[in-house]
Amino acid sequence: MNACLDDDYKILHKTFKSFINDEKIEHFCYGKSFFGRDLIAFHKGEFLGKQFLITGGIHAREYISSFVVMELLKDYDLPYGCFFIPLLNPDGIELCLGGIETIPFEYKDMIIRLNNYSIDFSKWKANGRGVDLNVNFDANWGNGKYNKLLPGSENFIGEEPCSEVENLNLIKFISRYEIALSLTYHSKGQVIYHGFEGGSKKIRHKTKILAKKFAKNLGYKSIISKNSVGGLSDYLCLKNVPSLTVELGHDNLSHPVGITNLENIYKNQYVSVKNIFDFVRNYD
Ligand SMILES: [Zn+2]
Repeated sequence: MNACLDDDYKILHKTFKSFINDEKIEHFCYGKSFFGRDLIAFHKGEFLGKQFLITGGIHAREYISSFVVMELLKDYDLPYGCFFIPLLNPDGIELCLGGIETIPFEYKDMIIRLNNYSIDFSKWKANGRGVDLNVNFDANWGNGKYNKLLPGSENFIGEEPCSEVENLNLIKFISRYEIALSLTYHSKGQVIYHGFEGGSKKIRHKTKILAKKFAKNLGYKSIISKNSVGGLSDYLCLKNVPSLTVELGHDNLSHPVGITNLENIYKNQYVSVKNIFDFVRNYD
């Protein structure tokens, strides 16, 4: 086992657990992953009115995004209600960081085969079934340039839109609320993607304004999302929920971006989130 990944794995568990045990922070289990792990959303602020949504960890090797979501959860002191979901893909992240031992016995052979017979899972992106959760949502599903039609470590779209329990449970959970803005964290490239080609003109216009403003605060670039289909932000834009995809960390970094980079990556995050949330509250 890679020593750095081992450290990150322990810190991830410890930090996540500390939030679960924190009585001042509410948490909800919104379902189970394919391998039966709890899907957890944390909440801070008021429940009345529109809610914000901050998510990370949909791509396993981009688990630095889970740490950033947990840092935001720790620092968050605004009155506006906000849900924080650090681990959209707990099975994939367990596999990436903890290796094959995290996989139930009956699936081990299959997972190694899907990883081209390697037991190095540090570059794994998919969930525990070899489906890439961020191309599995019902938003022009299956029409992406890099989409794959067979299970593997990345880009497999699944058998049908929203075939994966992790996504299905998420959609059910967030559909109960009116979402003012969704920020979905990935790595890497210091870029904010906005707009979805299938979205309404109004939502594309709004997300463009928000992306520009947020990117300026972060010192990132804002880029219109082209050829992106089946992603969480694509799906939300289709449902008229403003949603931005944030790619954390400089492009020079290599996957997986480890926790030693967290301080640097997190630097402007909270103040930028605060600014954009204030802006959204006054925009509507
Ligand atoms: Zn990603």
